[in-house]
Amino acid sequence: MLKQYPADLHIHTCLSPCADDDMNPANILNMARLMGTKIIGICDHNSAKNVKPFQEAAKSHDILVIPGMEVESAEEVHLLVFFEDMSTMLEWQEFVYRHLPPRKNNPDFFGRQQIVDEDSNVIDEEEQMLLVAASLTVDEISQKVFDMGGMLVPAHIDRRTFSLWGQLGFIPENLRLSAIEISRNICETEARRKFSISEGITVITSSDAHRLEEMVFQKTFLYLESPSFLEVKKAFEAKEGRRVIIRE
Ligand SMILES: [Zn+2]
Ligand SMILES: [Zn+2]
Repeated sequence: MLKQYPADLHIHTCLSPCADDDMNPANILNMARLMGTKIIGICDHNSAKNVKPFQEAAKSHDILVIPGMEVESAEEVHLLVFFEDMSTMLEWQEFVYRHLPPRKNNPDFFGRQQIVDEDSNVIDEEEQMLLVAASLTVDEISQKVFDMGGMLVPAHIDRRTFSLWGQLGFIPENLRLSAIEISRNICETEARRKFSISEGITVITSSDAHRLEEMVFQKTFLYLESPSFLEVKKAFEAKEGRRVIIRE
């Protein structure tokens, strides 16, 4: 029996310099509970250092936290990357870090990059500047992510900047991807028409929340047997009845 799971797969934490400092596990998980969101993706810019504490804290919330990251390609395209488990995500993170320009964050200018524990205490700050492009092309990222068993979702395709469409002007036909994300500013029908997204490709929408109040933009529903990475993957692939529905 398939059940409906409200999902928001693109949420930033206080590790992203552009996100609010109160985007910690306690606040985000409580907000998700208020919204009835059952599956969340933690996707900070170029880092996954806050995913584990969210997973730990989520154990008492009946919410699935999928390890994610919003990686910025050499073409300045934002791509959401998801892996089933933390060990693969850490392997991926190491790979991305090796391809970031060695530049230090300026917290006064860009904002703090806070690393938290499961009790939402700030335990460290990331020194590496995260708001930068990795020296990896979209193609290289796609190839590596699928080699490692992950999922790739080009982020906010309708945005003029930092999106596949905005930066390249088209969706490369042979690019392997798991789904396409649209922002909350456009509906699925319009996005499919405007960006020539074929019916065979699943479209999701996420809050891309940098502030708690932005988490109210939760419109994606996954039909799954149970909440897990593999079930979400099946929904993206529209396999065995699993599917994704966006409700306006
Ligand atoms: Zn983005
Ligand atoms: Zn984002």
